[in-house]
Amino acid sequence: MEFRVGKFLKYMLDIIYPRSAVCIACGRECKTYNRYGFCFACYENLPFIRPPHCCVCGRHIEGGEICRLCVEANHVFTSALSVFEYNMPISDMVKRFKYRSFTHLAEPMAMLMVEAIELRGWSFDAVVPVPLHTKRLSLRGYNQAEYLAHSIGKMMGGKEVLGTALMRIRNTPSQIGMDRAERMWNLYNAFEVRQEDLVKDKTILLIDDVFTTGSTVDHCSSALLEAGAREVYVATFATTIYH
Ligand SMILES: [Zn+2]
Ligand SMILES: [Zn+2]
Repeated sequence: MEFRVGKFLKYMLDIIYPRSAVCIACGRECKTYNRYGFCFACYENLPFIRPPHCCVCGRHIEGGEICRLCVEANHVFTSALSVFEYNMPISDMVKRFKYRSFTHLAEPMAMLMVEAIELRGWSFDAVVPVPLHTKRLSLRGYNQAEYLAHSIGKMMGGKEVLGTALMRIRNTPSQIGMDRAERMWNLYNAFEVRQEDLVKDKTILLIDDVFTTGSTVDHCSSALLEAGAREVYVATFATTIYH
């Protein structure tokens, strides 16, 4: 179907996805792209997380309802989902989005996340991005989760995006290489809700780019629930997979 798009439609798609001069995953110039901006070679091999899913963390599960990681983790949020496993070429795409100012990737990433959220049938009142500490924010210049949250809010009928309700009040060391226990300790008291009235009695959709052990979104969820939020759902673009 996509091979036969008319000239006008192609022109319109170029306006909507102007960066699609290169594939959003492999970065190569290709003949055709699908509606997200992936070339066909990439799209056929993307590491989608296939069902059935663990009803807590959203990872693929062979049987039962909850994976063994979630039985041990005792997560605070109600349920989480991711679109992809954090493998190539998705991992490279996330790094470009996060560290190399490829902020235009937020749109196609959000599109895929919205489709996954709608498939789950989640309903929520407001969208909250996982915040960066102000020091890290000024170093990086932007919060990638905030870009995703705003795109998702817009695509889901103009849902309220609470960009400043949740704050990161401690600038914690990078968590790369830490296990869940170390991450939990590292993030102790790192988040705080500054505007409780904004989250009180609301069901929150918490947004981040990558789900690793879930400790970051657990700490955020605790702060939101303590401030009176009713429930917290978590949507991330990719999840690391343990075998
Ligand atoms: Zn590609
Ligand atoms: Zn799980």
